[in-house]
Amino acid sequence: MNPSEQRAAGEAAGDDDRSCATIVVARWAGYCYGVERALRIAEEAGVALAPPIYTLGPLIHNPSVVERLARRGIAAIDDLDQVARGTVIVRTHGVDPEVVAAAQARGLAVIDATCPFVNVAHQKAEVLREQGYIPVILGERDHPEVVGLLAWAGPKAVVVEDADELRLRDMRGKRVGVVVQTTQTRDNLARLVSRLAPAARETLVFNTICDATGKRQAAAQQLARSVDVVIVVGGRNSANTTRLTSLCRVIQPRTWHIETAAELEGAWLAGARRVGVTAGASTPEDEIDAAVARIRELVGQ
Ligand code: SF4
Repeated sequence: MNPSEQRAAGEAAGDDDRSCATIVVARWAGYCYGVERALRIAEEAGVALAPPIYTLGPLIHNPSVVERLARRGIAAIDDLDQVARGTVIVRTHGVDPEVVAAAQARGLAVIDATCPFVNVAHQKAEVLREQGYIPVILGERDHPEVVGLLAWAGPKAVVVEDADELRLRDMRGKRVGVVVQTTQTRDNLARLVSRLAPAARETLVFNTICDATGKRQAAAQQLARSVDVVIVVGGRNSANTTRLTSLCRVIQPRTWHIETAAELEGAWLAGARRVGVTAGASTPEDEIDAAVARIRELVGQ
């Protein structure tokens, strides 16, 4: 359990009953292993290496963290064409291997901060391609992790965002393999497999949803069942944070997604006796703490 998880567990266990509103932080919330690792790699590079240092895309999907890195001289770029020299850090979501080759061909040093769980998904996608399956990737088409997965899965791969998108007529009688964006929900995977398996001749499923995602989703759902309002903290461009929001909202319609504590509105908390707080895997501990502190202010604790 990382420090934010220990803090979250402690808050959850010791609900604060000093006023009419209790604030409960999800059992699992905030930075995951892959994000902590990527930040450590970037910070160590910032100390050890000569500038310029860049990340290819934002290192993680949290604007304030990306700004902090930029202030330390580690700027996010969108395209290799923007740099002529220096070091490029590949972010947690991974990239098409051709991008790494292109960076090296330009003489750039490359540091790979791809999350090991995303690397596993890459390997599984490659297995599907090499063994002649039609790879089906369950994930958000434009998400950088899925773009990278597609490159590993090869030209026959198809991406579906949910089970209903799957064109069964293209799968009938075929050998079809499934690999999953690490932040997808298990329910989405179950729906896809139950639709696909009766149609395909053979179905090989790699469940590459990462444990951190599953734990945060389960904890957020448990939280949503026990509170009157849910506050989800994290970047709006963070897939796992927005998924936490939608999962919670199904259970508790009074669910709000904020990037920073300053966005919290007192009206959202009106009449709530229990307020739940959860956060995506790219949300730093200080932003969770700031949200909790602001909720305390708004409910008059
Ligand atoms: S959510 Fe999972 S796959 Fe994504 S960076 Fe974190 S540990 Fe890695």
